[in-house]
Amino acid sequence: MKQRPYNFSAGPAALPAEVLEQAAAEMLDWHGSGMGVMEMSHRGKEFIAIAHQAEADLRRLLAVPPNFHILFMQGGGLAENAIVPLNLSGGAAADFVVTGSWSQKSFKEAKKYCDAQLAAANTAADGSHTTLPDPATWRLRREARYLHLCSNETIHGIEFHELPDLKSLGSDAPLVVDCSSHILSRAIDWSRVGLAFAGAQKNIGPAGLTIVMVREDLVGHALPVCPSAFDYKTVAEHGSMFNTPPTYAIYIAGLVFQWLLRQGGVAEMERRAVQKAELLYGAIDASGFYSNKVERSCRSRMNVPFFMPDERLYAPFLEGAVARGLLQLKGHKSVGGLRASIYNAMPLEGVQALVSYMTEFQARHG
Ligand SMILES: *Cc1c(COP(=O)(O)O)cnc(C)c1O
Repeated sequence: MKQRPYNFSAGPAALPAEVLEQAAAEMLDWHGSGMGVMEMSHRGKEFIAIAHQAEADLRRLLAVPPNFHILFMQGGGLAENAIVPLNLSGGAAADFVVTGSWSQKSFKEAKKYCDAQLAAANTAADGSHTTLPDPATWRLRREARYLHLCSNETIHGIEFHELPDLKSLGSDAPLVVDCSSHILSRAIDWSRVGLAFAGAQKNIGPAGLTIVMVREDLVGHALPVCPSAFDYKTVAEHGSMFNTPPTYAIYIAGLVFQWLLRQGGVAEMERRAVQKAELLYGAIDASGFYSNKVERSCRSRMNVPFFMPDERLYAPFLEGAVARGLLQLKGHKSVGGLRASIYNAMPLEGVQALVSYMTEFQARHG
């Protein structure tokens, strides 16, 4: 196949070409069944096999412990902002660390269902988010049913490179992590996590699938008002098939999991992520033209927002990028500038092509 452009979208984002080719080859007839995956009953043996394999592969990739359920749900990260408090808060206290747009949204939504309070925030006087608050300063309430944080802020490009150990901070609350935009790019320390959720459309596969990994003891405490299809206990008891799951998205996610295993798993993805991020941040920092304002210790390996000295340069930059096969580099509307999302499916060559275009653009306009 001819070389595809490099797609830097924050989500829905690029998928490995191998996965798309396999899906195309299997579109009309999956494994001699005479059916495409979209046309199969979710209760048939073919789809059940696809879903079981996907779950087993994800468990292996992230070393998800046996006392955690893996749930395939719908509604995306934003629905989880409601589903988590409906299941875990008991309508009582829950603490939030706000480090950017996504955790801010989670905090706001949770207030509908429980006594949500801010444990810490990184919002600067000008409204920007460029640091992470030191866990030692977090205000953790003894009565909190959980503490929520977003481990990679997709819009602001801020990543927790280590999850806090709440026990060492004197809290027994389980940690809830929105890892939508860096899932499978690094290992998860399950000894520090009670629940992790992720929309699939950033670093896994198509939109429509939401993955929830939740410790067994946290399941079964939903508020009576919680919709049955969003009650983790109901979903777990039905093997994620209480209602019709997003079957095609699960299938594509499963192909991505197998691709990840062939590449060398999460350790290899992390090695590549470090390499790609170092190349891009290195080029930005050395340029004296491009800038990224996030403190180095918490810069995201997945989402790299960056800026130029003059607003008028963005339109020609983006136009020239498309002409070179570098797509979807426009920054999020709330922060402006540019953003390169360099998820697992982005090869090193894509980042190299971006950096050489940036150098060339600077030479002409700097
Ligand atoms: C994209 C994103 C979401 C929202 O996902 P939806 O599927 O649009 O609801 C939530 N959290 C993070 C960190 C994200 O990157």
